[in-house]
Amino acid sequence: MTLRVFNTLGRRLEDFAPREQEHVRLYTCGPTVYNVVHIGNLRTFLWEDVLRRHLLAKGWRVTQIMNLTDVDDKTIRGAAQAQMSLRDFTSKYADLFFRDIDRLGIQRAEGYPRATDHVAEMQEITAKLLERGNAYETEGSVYFRIATFPDYGKLSRIDLTQARRGDRVADDEYEKEDVKDFALWKAGKEGEPTWPSPWGPGRPGWHIECSAMSMKYLGAHFDLHTGAVDNIFPHHENEIAQSEAATGERFVDVWLHAEHLIVDGEKMAKSKGNFFTLEDVLARRNDAMAVRYLLLSVPYRRKLNFTFDALAGAAAAVDRLRSAAARIDEVASGGAKKPAAFPAAARAEKFALDFMAAMDDDLNTSEALGALFPYLRELNAAIDDGTLDAEGAAIAGAILRSADGVLGLLPAAAEVLPAEIEAQIAARLAARKRKDFTEADRIRNELAGKGIVLEDGPAGTRWKKA
Ligand SMILES: [Zn+2]
Repeated sequence: MTLRVFNTLGRRLEDFAPREQEHVRLYTCGPTVYNVVHIGNLRTFLWEDVLRRHLLAKGWRVTQIMNLTDVDDKTIRGAAQAQMSLRDFTSKYADLFFRDIDRLGIQRAEGYPRATDHVAEMQEITAKLLERGNAYETEGSVYFRIATFPDYGKLSRIDLTQARRGDRVADDEYEKEDVKDFALWKAGKEGEPTWPSPWGPGRPGWHIECSAMSMKYLGAHFDLHTGAVDNIFPHHENEIAQSEAATGERFVDVWLHAEHLIVDGEKMAKSKGNFFTLEDVLARRNDAMAVRYLLLSVPYRRKLNFTFDALAGAAAAVDRLRSAAARIDEVASGGAKKPAAFPAAARAEKFALDFMAAMDDDLNTSEALGALFPYLRELNAAIDDGTLDAEGAAIAGAILRSADGVLGLLPAAAEVLPAEIEAQIAARLAARKRKDFTEADRIRNELAGKGIVLEDGPAGTRWKKA
């Protein structure tokens, strides 16, 4: 089956295949580490996790790079207010970012490069753009001249008629109306952190960091670049301009953008009291997997309306999935051979096809979940009727786990020990019961040699890997 995705560049559904066989290169714009990310940011990061997992499920290898923006207008302001060094200040929020994505079961990317560790690479691109006449220097700052890049606006379809030659914008983030030359390098200001450069002390602009880090780790031309819709302009438009002007080749094949999250039908804003971090949400309902479910249940190109009622519904859905999976595992391990009236293999195959087809349809998670729950109902009914045998349950359990490789909602399966080791643990227990402690210790030492550590407690003997 072919994966089809909606490419913002060209605004159409396209078949996706990686440039290099079996290997997808994916760049996902990361957080600006100046505060705790809110659930709107997390919606984007979670969708990117589902995308990553689906690419893996299709059998591709994935190299995902996510930057940490640790120098820009906001981080500099925040560090000054907190009277901390920029590094200490941003490290604190980077740690909190990882705490939140771990709670949501978001798989780690292959790399999280920091902007401040790549200033040299940014200067290299800036120098090249100057050399090629795509940039100009003024008073210690360097700007990209958008008039030299005829394709400017191809991603965002921005209105270029307002652009006047020589108008400049120095802010890292600016409004749609500001179609102006943007800063690649900013002259240092009093009290701000600076780096030495051929243009005097200063710091990189925000946009250049993603060009520098993506091309360093993924190559000048790679497969997928994602972000939220508000990254389309100016951030991603500028990334394309500076990267393609510098290398002379296409930068990214497919651009994917996630829609906003709204709360109770309204845009999130601190002033409206509807602004939530993950911590805020978990304080009201301590169920990170319900949050995960809710955030992934709406396809990424649709606005997601976050409400606490919807979160309660999500918690119930996760419960249904988990209890069905547990029942299925129980039947599978029961080993009872019964007349298997339930067509387990055929139904598993149909479910797997429906699930993959939905995910291949521009990551339509709501359709994928729409295939999952009727299937769970059938399995539950078959267990109630006694028409699902152990073999059928094993098939159903395996197919559920593989779908959950994309959804990420089930707890990791309990680790199973090889039967021979289980037998040794049982033999040691028997030795202890008959007070043959020499034999019990001998077995314990033998297991330790195999990397299995035993802990005897009031509730019995537990094992763990050394
Ligand atoms: Zn970026």
